[in-house]
Amino acid sequence: MVSEAKSAIISKMTLSVGKDPAFATDYDWFLACALAARDRATLRFLEGKRVTASDGKKRVYYLSLEFLIGRQLTDVLSNLSLLDVFRAALEDLGVDYERVRSAEPDAALGNGGLGRLAACFMESMATLGIPAYGYGIRYDHGLFRQVIYDGWQEEYPEDWLSFGTPWEFLRTDVVFNVGFGGSVETYVTPAGITRYTWHPGEVVHAVSYDTPMVGWRGRSVNPLRLWSARAVDPLRLELFNRGDFAGASSDQARAEAISKFLYPSDETPSGQELRLRQEYFFVSASLQDLLSRHRRIYGDLHSLPERAAIQLNDTHPAVAIAEMMRLLLDEHGLPWNEAWAITSATFSYTNHTLLPEALETWPLAVFERLLPRHLQIIYFINNLHLEAAKKAFPEEPELLRSVSIIDERDGRKVRMGQLAFVGSHAINGVSALHTDLMRKTTFRDLNRIYPDRIQNKTNGITFRRWLHQSNPGLTAILKEVCGAEVVDNPEVIERLAAHAGDSALQDRIRAVKLANKTALAKVIAERTGVRVDPAALFDVQIKRMHEYKRQLLNLLETAALYDAIRANPDADWTPRVKIMAGKAAASYVNAKFIIKLANDIAQVVNNDPAVRDLLKVVFLPNYNVSLAEVIIPAADLSEQISTAGMEASGTGNMKLALNGALTIGTLDGANIEIRDNVGNDNIFIFGLTTDEVSYRRERGITAGQAIAASPMLAGVLNAVSGGRFSPDDPGRFVQLIDGLRGADRYMVTDDFDSYYAAQRRVDACWNSGEPWTRSAIINIANMAWFSSDRTIAEYAREIWNVPVDL
Ligand SMILES: *Cc1c(COP(=O)(O)O)cnc(C)c1O
Repeated sequence: MVSEAKSAIISKMTLSVGKDPAFATDYDWFLACALAARDRATLRFLEGKRVTASDGKKRVYYLSLEFLIGRQLTDVLSNLSLLDVFRAALEDLGVDYERVRSAEPDAALGNGGLGRLAACFMESMATLGIPAYGYGIRYDHGLFRQVIYDGWQEEYPEDWLSFGTPWEFLRTDVVFNVGFGGSVETYVTPAGITRYTWHPGEVVHAVSYDTPMVGWRGRSVNPLRLWSARAVDPLRLELFNRGDFAGASSDQARAEAISKFLYPSDETPSGQELRLRQEYFFVSASLQDLLSRHRRIYGDLHSLPERAAIQLNDTHPAVAIAEMMRLLLDEHGLPWNEAWAITSATFSYTNHTLLPEALETWPLAVFERLLPRHLQIIYFINNLHLEAAKKAFPEEPELLRSVSIIDERDGRKVRMGQLAFVGSHAINGVSALHTDLMRKTTFRDLNRIYPDRIQNKTNGITFRRWLHQSNPGLTAILKEVCGAEVVDNPEVIERLAAHAGDSALQDRIRAVKLANKTALAKVIAERTGVRVDPAALFDVQIKRMHEYKRQLLNLLETAALYDAIRANPDADWTPRVKIMAGKAAASYVNAKFIIKLANDIAQVVNNDPAVRDLLKVVFLPNYNVSLAEVIIPAADLSEQISTAGMEASGTGNMKLALNGALTIGTLDGANIEIRDNVGNDNIFIFGLTTDEVSYRRERGITAGQAIAASPMLAGVLNAVSGGRFSPDDPGRFVQLIDGLRGADRYMVTDDFDSYYAAQRRVDACWNSGEPWTRSAIINIANMAWFSSDRTIAEYAREIWNVPVDL
């Protein structure tokens, strides 16, 4: 085996990379290993495709504008059971696997949780043997690279693709035309039927690249098919020949802009025309592709719902409802009712947020200019939908306004959430609380019209990446204590609970955690210059920077703790390292100020001899999947402190608890289900509940009361806004803090005291030693349910109607 791998790697190095192994760089070794690994994945991949087609198996199509994959080498090798073999082969060649692995750039084709969920789902679908295609965009530039300069975030283009990627196959035979703009022609057939033909003003080619997604033990390998935009005519020769070189390639630049970069905002749509072009581009190519596959294998489109399930990951691909109708009506000549029956039986939609500013809408003018035929279809859909609503609720004209696909208030808009809902047979939320809120708030009236559509599918994470690969030390313990089958069946992790009080096990768990923390301390020193003590409590908040996630609450508590330590330096403090990482959308001013505040606080605290090693503050730059894989196994405390009702699920919370961090959190998203699983005694819950949040919002209760009631809060707000941490620019944070003193939309001030108190409970528990480790073990033992295999099995059974044996 090892010698086979060795010769495969050497052969790739010489014949594909074109290098003499004696002169190969780490990156060359990465390429050679990736190509050798891909060969093995490809054979399974082709075999799977043959079987699916010949057995008439139903396929799942997962449409997502984001796939946050990260590095793939370890994932692929480990799932093919080749990791040890390749490691040994490289060692024989005198090459260190760790360096080779680290030479791979992160594929950061996503912003945060939503994109990472899509990546975990692809892995789980392959693991469960579900024939699935992921469809998305092959962005030339993924999420920006974050550099912290003088404490401020700076954004730099990310270029994962600048040297190509060894994982993908260009499919030269899979190219589709995607149109934009133009006009719609109406005519009446001799049989008296009105037909429509769209004549786009512009056509772009969608070119496909397939990356194999390998399931655990290579059970199956599915394609992630990403589309790249190409101009139909790359060069206008008549202009070129006249010397107008820029003009000659302007069509190309316009076309290729579509797949140039990922929109870098999370939870706030950009509303720009290019974004709608991206959405339609990948949706149209994907639907043309899957319809042509279906016709090739089955001949007739009426059987589509039996052979295909299409999942919309949020509303970004929701224009697919209109595009499917257009293809069935205009291109395939089906009558409306048949087309609609096929469409709504095939589609389902996952909602990821209820924040009003995050619900995607498009001004009618933009939509009509870009997609005139689709707007017509949406009007037809909406008319029928409103007719049905009127019939069901004749006494409630108000209801029509809320369920309409067209928003008639200030400037008419297309609402993508309503479109996705109306065109799908199943709509799901991503945690129990979030699904409940969907039924009660944003989709309340739609839920009354279609009461059996909304269901819950609590998110999950793939344990292969987030436990077995990122935390081999803990995995080794689990195999020993729970049995080797733990890597195939996470449910047996529960066996750990019986040993939670066993001091030998506790020692081993602590030793693994300490080793992981030592590794993280090294990364912290390399990247920030700050030295931290691995024996201290590692308190971790890692996620996109957003006001609703309340990094600011964490920082205010840090400032208050700092003051308390200075005021009483000899008290029995718990040495803590506050670790924060996350990117802010470039245009999100407050989020960028919060990053600056974190760095300013770090400057002051880390250089104050009075606090010694009792408190350190670290902001790690450029949070991404690879950094997460280092931080998560080293965390003691997991900060999940969003305003109740605002975090749909969270998945960072699951990764951290699975790796033995205790959660400090609000009753929000999946935190609630984590608490239900690990038990109230093994989690630190604080803060307002969803009901209390909405009560305050309805009454217009603002921050004044909370500040008046808490001298500590008042003091810390004054300190930050008075320039205590920004002596070079004392007014720097005045606006940020004024936002809390005024509306405080995210109720930071209301939750401050209860958060501070919860942190002191954390201190006490940590100081007690044994009970902390016991709780950590109970957390690990009870996280099996949060495997994305469980989530995907639920989608398969309850939404897609695809058989699974888990
Ligand atoms: C899991 C993950 C997220 C999601 O984190 P939340 O805390 O759930 O917001 C974001 N980014 C990366 C890189 C992740 O791995």
